[in-house]
Amino acid sequence: MRTAVVVSLALTAAALGAARPASAEIQARIKVKAGDTLSTIARRHDCTVAALQRANDLPGTMILAGQELAVPVCRGKEAARPTRRVARIEIPLVAGQSVGRPWDGKLRRASQLPTGKGYLIRRPHRAYGAAHVVAHVRNAIARVRADHPRLHTLAIGDLSAKHGGSISEHRSHQSGRDLDVGFYFKKVPKGYPASFVKATSANLDRAATWDLLVAFARTADDPGGVQAIFVDYEVQGWLHEWAAARGVDRGYLGRLFQYPAGKHAAKGLVRHEPNHDDHFHIRFKCPPGDGACD
Ligand SMILES: [Zn+2]
Repeated sequence: MRTAVVVSLALTAAALGAARPASAEIQARIKVKAGDTLSTIARRHDCTVAALQRANDLPGTMILAGQELAVPVCRGKEAARPTRRVARIEIPLVAGQSVGRPWDGKLRRASQLPTGKGYLIRRPHRAYGAAHVVAHVRNAIARVRADHPRLHTLAIGDLSAKHGGSISEHRSHQSGRDLDVGFYFKKVPKGYPASFVKATSANLDRAATWDLLVAFARTADDPGGVQAIFVDYEVQGWLHEWAAARGVDRGYLGRLFQYPAGKHAAKGLVRHEPNHDDHFHIRFKCPPGDGACD
């Protein structure tokens, strides 16, 4: 499914020339983000890959992070099939919900992750978070499912309790900024998604799990986006190797993963944490300017 190779910001539009003006009516001029492919961009704008290629004189599907693209207004045959559309939720940035720190905090006027297509909330009484966290989670899952229409149900573990504070099995998850989310598997393992299941090099669906990781990681530069992702070092290695073998830029992988620098290295958005071989722990930033959130 992933056909384009997305590489680092070091290779920017400057090297490629700016996006050409196209004769078609243009709905948007965008800058390609790490993790984007022509097909994800096309779906986001109700367009087809072919229409994007034509509007930008692209000979193939290769695009680079930082590259500028003109997105044409697509109608008729060029409009994306509505079933593949990703309905992205606007990210609400609400001050005053997440109070204190993830390991010493609470939650006010919590937002609850609603039940939805493609995921199972294991413990609904622990599915509360800050509004931006809930919106990011819904967007990330919807985005992966759009690229992998036949995916199995994803296990959603704990966010926080309705009023936050300490909950069993976690040190953090207190202030509505933490989420535990399972992986995608080649074949749904026994017990999943009611429980998390340990990833192995044999059972992990690297393509879908990579896309899930990137769907979260790409928000890291956004206000209220991802701050850190914790997962077992060995799982990092499998995803790193999978992506590197498909041409994902080494510079991007270096910024994303701690692997291969060692499980104690202070680098990368994704860090090793013991007992995280069956899920990602995703921590989101505070809303900008929210003095209560730490
Ligand atoms: Zn966690």
